[in-house]
Amino acid sequence: MTASSQPDVSEPSGQQADGGLVNLHEKLAGLLASRGQWREAYDHLRSALDLIYQDSAGHAPPVPEQLRREVDRLRREHAEAHEQSIRDSLTASYNRRYLDQRLVAMLSEQTGALAVALVDLDWFKQVNDRYGHLVGDRVLQQVVELLQVELPEPAFCARYGGEEFVLVLPDTDHATAIEIAEAARARVERHDWSAMAPGLRVTVSAGVAHEVGGTCENGAEHQLLQADSLLYSAKQSGRNAVAYREDGRVRLAGPAAGRRAIADVRVAEHY
Ligand code: GH3
Ligand code: MG
Ligand code: MG
Repeated sequence: MTASSQPDVSEPSGQQADGGLVNLHEKLAGLLASRGQWREAYDHLRSALDLIYQDSAGHAPPVPEQLRREVDRLRREHAEAHEQSIRDSLTASYNRRYLDQRLVAMLSEQTGALAVALVDLDWFKQVNDRYGHLVGDRVLQQVVELLQVELPEPAFCARYGGEEFVLVLPDTDHATAIEIAEAARARVERHDWSAMAPGLRVTVSAGVAHEVGGTCENGAEHQLLQADSLLYSAKQSGRNAVAYREDGRVRLAGPAAGRRAIADVRVAEHY
């Protein structure tokens, strides 16, 4: 017998010899418990304990292939269920639940700067009215694709609700965040929408709110409110525009910068 195949007698009875099987039973128990299948989870834990306490002479029983496959299957299902729980079913962008959780986590971690762009489709009700809800749904899917092009890691896009999306841009300075939002706006404007439906045109408006770091209570909510008030300014100024705040004043990015009469609604300071 070679040294490597020699059983380690210093291990407690059963633990080393049956380690693989004990591990598998434990993992299965964990996966099943995370799905609320307590009875089955308990059975696997029981099996794991039996293996640990059994009077083993060091003979490792082979891990049954069926058990391995069961672990793989449950792992896959677990991963798929998790993915589904954080994705929007229509557009496959992240959903509101994921957005809320990530924003709260990011702001409480006191990491670097964080920018959010709240993006809303312009006159989208008219798209539905004129072309039908199915085309409307496809427009939403296409807009998400266009918003996500070239989003630098770890930035992500989430559906805020209805025809509103949020681009979350961690560790991004203000100017870059505005550039990213403006590039996304221009991509949507330039896209060949008539290929989807004759005469169709789609544009978006956005508000970009930037936090330099540090935390405050209701941080995520406050930042989204700021982005929302800037989105309102972009809409009021004629839509198809990205609004941001600089030196206390609302400004528009890109070609919209020359527009006049930009509405300015301030978010209450107590937020
Ligand atoms: P504005 O430029 O001011 O944002 O105008 P708007 O028409 O985009 O805004 P409004 O809030 O009046 O209408 C939003 C529309 O978005 C109404 C709603 O039916 C549509 N909508 C929301 N979610 C979905 C969806 O999942 N699919 C489709 N097809 N339409 C949706
Ligand atoms: Mg809206
Ligand atoms: Mg809209």
